[in-house]
Parts: sequence; C-alpha cells; structure tokens
Amino acid sequence: MAMTGSTPCSSMSNHTKERVTMTKVTLENFYSNLIAQHEEREMRQKKLEKVMEEEGLKDEEKRLRRSAHARKETEFLRLKRTRLGLEDFESLKVIGRGAFGEVRLVQKKDTGHVYAMKILRKADMLEKEQVGHIRAERDILVEADSLWVVKMFYSFQDKLNLYLIMEFLPGGDMMTLLMKKDTLTEEETQFYIAETVLAIDSIHQLGFIHRDIKPDNLLLDSKGHVKLSDFGLCTGLKKAHRTEFYRNLNHSLPSDFTFQNMNSKRKAETWKRNRRQLAFSTVGTPDYIAPEVFMQTGYNKLCDWWSLGVIMYEMLIGYPPFCSETPQETYKKVMNWKETLTFPPEVPISEKAKDLILRFCCEWEHRIGAPGVEEIKSNSFFEGVDWEHIRERPAAISIEIKSIDDTSNFDEFPESDILKPTGKKQEEKT
Ligand code: ATP
Ligand code: MG
Repeated sequence: MAMTGSTPCSSMSNHTKERVTMTKVTLENFYSNLIAQHEEREMRQKKLEKVMEEEGLKDEEKRLRRSAHARKETEFLRLKRTRLGLEDFESLKVIGRGAFGEVRLVQKKDTGHVYAMKILRKADMLEKEQVGHIRAERDILVEADSLWVVKMFYSFQDKLNLYLIMEFLPGGDMMTLLMKKDTLTEEETQFYIAETVLAIDSIHQLGFIHRDIKPDNLLLDSKGHVKLSDFGLCTGLKKAHRTEFYRNLNHSLPSDFTFQNMNSKRKAETWKRNRRQLAFSTVGTPDYIAPEVFMQTGYNKLCDWWSLGVIMYEMLIGYPPFCSETPQETYKKVMNWKETLTFPPEVPISEKAKDLILRFCCEWEHRIGAPGVEEIKSNSFFEGVDWEHIRERPAAISIEIKSIDDTSNFDEFPESDILKPTGKKQEEKT
C-alpha cells in the first residue's frame, strides 16, 4: 500500500510533479553515492596515513597498520558483493516505520546475527520505468566507517523493494525517548546534544551534510550512546517533495488558532499525540529544517546546527519551537523565526541553554559553528563535558537490554504485508 495517502496535497498534477522530482533526486543520489564510495575508500587510506604520521609510527608499525586496513577494506568489499537475498534472513519484528517503508529486526539464518533491515518500497520512491536505472546499483549504499553513524552491511533488492541490512541499535530512537518523557533534564540534554555535535561533525568532516537531523534519526546503541541513522538516502526524496509542496500550497492556509492559544502542557501533549503520524508521512515534518534550506539561495553544513538547536529546544521544553497544526503553518513559522522563536515563560530553562539554542537557531552567517566546531564545543552550556571520552563513559540514561533481539525500547508496530508475495513471484532478484 502506498503511503502517499497521508499527503495533504490533493492536486493530481502536483503529485505527479513531485514524483518526477523525487525520481530525479533519487537517481542523482544513487550515482553520486557510487562515486562517493570510491572517494571514501581513498579518503580512508589518506586518513590512515595522516593518523600514522601524527602518531609518529615506525615503518614496521605502519606496514602492519596498512595491511590490517587493507584486510578490512577487502572484507568490506566481499560483504558487499555477497549475493544475499530476503531468503537469507528471518524477520522477527517490525521496529520502525518511515515514509517509504519500514524497519524490521531480522536474523541472518546461517550466522544467527541480528540486524535491522530497512525495507523501501520502490513504487513509492520511483516511477516504474526508472527502476531499471538503479538495477546495476545493488551495492552502493554502504556508508563510511564511523562510530557515530549506523553501519550498513548489505543491500539487495527484488521486484518490490530495496533492502538495507544495517547494525541493529537496541536503544531505540530519540523521538521515542522524547515521547515517553515530558522533558529531559539539562544534564541529559547536555549529554545528547554534545554527542550529536560530535556525530554531526564527523559526517561534516567526511564532506557530507545531513540536512535531515531530527530526533527520529538519532538512534541509541546498547549503551545509550548516539548514532546517526543512515544519511543521504531518503532526504533528497522528501526534501524535493517538501519544496514542491510548499511552493504550490502556500496560499489558502488555515491559521492555527488552536495551537497558538494552548499552554505549553497542552502543546506538548498535542505534539506528542501527532508526532508518530508525522514521521510516517511522505511530507515529513518541516519542524527541524533550517530556513535557508527552503530557499533557492542555497545552504551549507551549518543547516545541521540549526536542526540541533530545534532538538535541544524540544528536549528542554517538551515540543519544538515551530510546531503547529499543519506542516504549512510550521513552514511559515520557521521562515518567520525572528518572531516565532520564543520560550514559554512557564517552562524553566537555564540562561546558558537558552543562549545556546538562540546561537544554533539564527541566520547562518552568525550561527555558532560557522568558524568551526570548536566554537560549539567551548560554549558554556557544555561546561564539564569530556569531549575526548564521552562515548566511552556512561550515557546519561542507560539502556537495559536482556538479549540480542530485545525490542523493548521500540514502540509496537502491527505486522505489515510488505514482505508478502502479491500474486507474482516476488523473490526474483535483479
Ligand atoms: P528517513 O528518516 O531517512 O526519512 P525513515 O523514516 O523511512 O527514513 P528511519 O528513520 O531510518 O527511516 O527508520 C525509522 C525508524 O526505525 C527509526 O526512527 C528507528 O526507530 C528505527 N530504526 C531505523 N534504523 C534502525 C537501526 N539500525 N536499529 C534500530 N532501529 C532502527
Ligand atoms: Mg525517519
């Protein structure tokens, strides 16, 4: 079943236009990924050399390090080339849902290892006649090796879906955590924001801009530490969608009286009630997107810091600063942030926290982090953070896991029929 039904867009021609834009963006993403992979391999090699230089290793040590690195790269390639298919995995449980498919906990039949399997419905992503273009691109989806990014192991496809096999993060996602708690303490917020600063910086250093930093894309590992969910895959799709969406539907907006007149407690309740639905829709939520991303004038990596400011606000206040009844209304508030970014007087929050949020959420020219990530790390909100060792130290909230396939940190999702054959033979691999 297509999930585009949740799009408030009613005009058919707009819908088609959006699909075409989406298709273009996907294909561009796929091909640039292929090139990126080669570049990444070279970059890893260069990085290794640089690190060894910095550490002042002896020639013999360097030789050992190089051959260990080469083995790792080969293993990586071998894994990617292995012809795997749906039949090699047993599906245990649905653990997440996104705009273009779902995420399941699966177990590899031969090894017993558990993984998260992201299933993307091709029909929702691409015009049918375009699917052929991506056939050759079976294994383009492995991202750079980083502690801060969810590892991707294999990808394959069949007639209906693309499958991405990645490491399973049993701690759940930040959206689910925030929906369970009213707010986080300043200390917890400091921890999660600090780790996310390092995670975002690590992808910036690789030359990526995430553009879709939001609580649903911050996952927690078995110890409660942050990892970014795969980046650059669907962002382009939804972004194109969004831009189209707002350009065409800017007129005749309902105003959001109801929301404006709510106190912060009711706002938080309403936000949390609607939140998951928003995460499933193909429109997505514009709540976390920097204003410059919506404009034709271009943007840079600083847009990720704006998103982090929005998340920090949500952690401390209980709902994000621009939340509204409709995505269009939220979009308007984001664009008009100079007037709409305010703090409810009834929710206590430290001056330091408020200052940092306002340093994240401002014009990109003046935004914190413009001179470099050090400016963020030395902000007084982060006083006492051990930046070097934060990932090895206990997390602010520890995670309890009883087994390798424990899904207690995830919400319940009904079984879907995404893997059921639809009459035709589905296992046909491309
Ligand atoms: P995007 O956010 O890029 O548009 P999406 O919403 O379709 O994509 P994800 O955000 O990657 O998909 O995944 C949806 C949810 O599934 C996440 O919020 C998270 O709860 C769960 N999830 C995703 N990847 C993993 C993983 N590797 N381990 C555990 N849970 C995961
Ligand atoms: Mg998501």
